[in-house]
Amino acid sequence: MKRPTLQTLALTLLTTAACADGAFYGDPPDATHPWAIHDMNRAQPARVEAGSFSSQNQPGTPPSDAIILFGGKEDEIGKWQADKQPAEPTKWEVKNGVLQCVPGSGYIRTKEEFADCQLHLEWSAPSKVEGNSQGRGNSGVFLMGQVEVQVLDNYNNPTYPDGSASSIYGINPPLANPLRAPGEWQTYDIVFRRPIFKDGKELDPGYITVFVNGVLTQDHTPLEGGGGHMKRSIRRPFPDQGPLKLQDHGNPVRYRNIWYRPLPKRAIEGGDASHMSEVATTAKRAKIAQTIREDAAKLEGTAKMLRLFESICYAQNADAKNNATRMLTDFVTEVHATQGDKIESRKGDILQVAKALRYLTKFKFLPEDLEAKKTLEAVIKAQDWEPKKK
Ligand code: MG
Repeated sequence: MKRPTLQTLALTLLTTAACADGAFYGDPPDATHPWAIHDMNRAQPARVEAGSFSSQNQPGTPPSDAIILFGGKEDEIGKWQADKQPAEPTKWEVKNGVLQCVPGSGYIRTKEEFADCQLHLEWSAPSKVEGNSQGRGNSGVFLMGQVEVQVLDNYNNPTYPDGSASSIYGINPPLANPLRAPGEWQTYDIVFRRPIFKDGKELDPGYITVFVNGVLTQDHTPLEGGGGHMKRSIRRPFPDQGPLKLQDHGNPVRYRNIWYRPLPKRAIEGGDASHMSEVATTAKRAKIAQTIREDAAKLEGTAKMLRLFESICYAQNADAKNNATRMLTDFVTEVHATQGDKIESRKGDILQVAKALRYLTKFKFLPEDLEAKKTLEAVIKAQDWEPKKK
């Protein structure tokens, strides 16, 4: 068999996509879903160049859209400061591409403030094992400076589980302990969502997900305020943004490869999502319809008509509907006037319009007994154009 070239493969994929994902295909928007199923009006996912994974000897590279908080350069200490008021330079040190806690110097915090994020960092507890329980290789990652994902050398070192490495300290123990031996690098991949309150009411508790060395240890764990030592914490709002803090707990813990990617807003705070409130969905549908109408204004003929009809699946608009309906009448008149062999040259358009009308009548955007639909169906039947089912 002849091997398909890359070009023919690409063309096949494009054609398949055009057939499968175009308008008038999946179930239309509804009261809480602003998009149709398989909707090509949705934005394509942003392109991100992936980074590489770390080895024990070498940190990996971050993805292209990551904001680097510490990538191994000495001057990156300038992105951090002592966690004091007023702020002052930190005494933590950068040596051999590694950021190291200087015991007794205090927490450090980023100058940059942010909130919901994907955070990656790597840490290493001292290879010379000293102390036990909470006294061995203790540090901590404080998201927004508010809630601690514990850093602790728990390798053969039991402690209270809600204070174990990757616990949400004082709130939830990790699901597993996948730590490597002290001195080795451990990776934390964290997904953080802050709590959202409105008028004193909790709309979303906030969540933390953690992978330690690739193993899931916090599975979308809901927050209960900030957690903490000995005291039961209560749910509370966080500020809009805050610094990332790293803890000085008296042990010279080392860090490398610290970066984050900000996360988009959740639906509850006005972000786009598959499922939204009815109010947000109505507003979003109106916006999508407007974009489609603007696109239609740049088109002509059948393409314009179909795009206008597509827009009414999102929001009613008398002008768009009347305009498209007039164009449909003209289209059918033209089909009527196209005789004999010439009809074949309109096959593509006729099938496409008939497909749209089937969809629009099925989902009641147009009346079921639409005359234009009957006419086109009759032409398709007479010409035997209906694709044969295998
Ligand atoms: Mg700690």
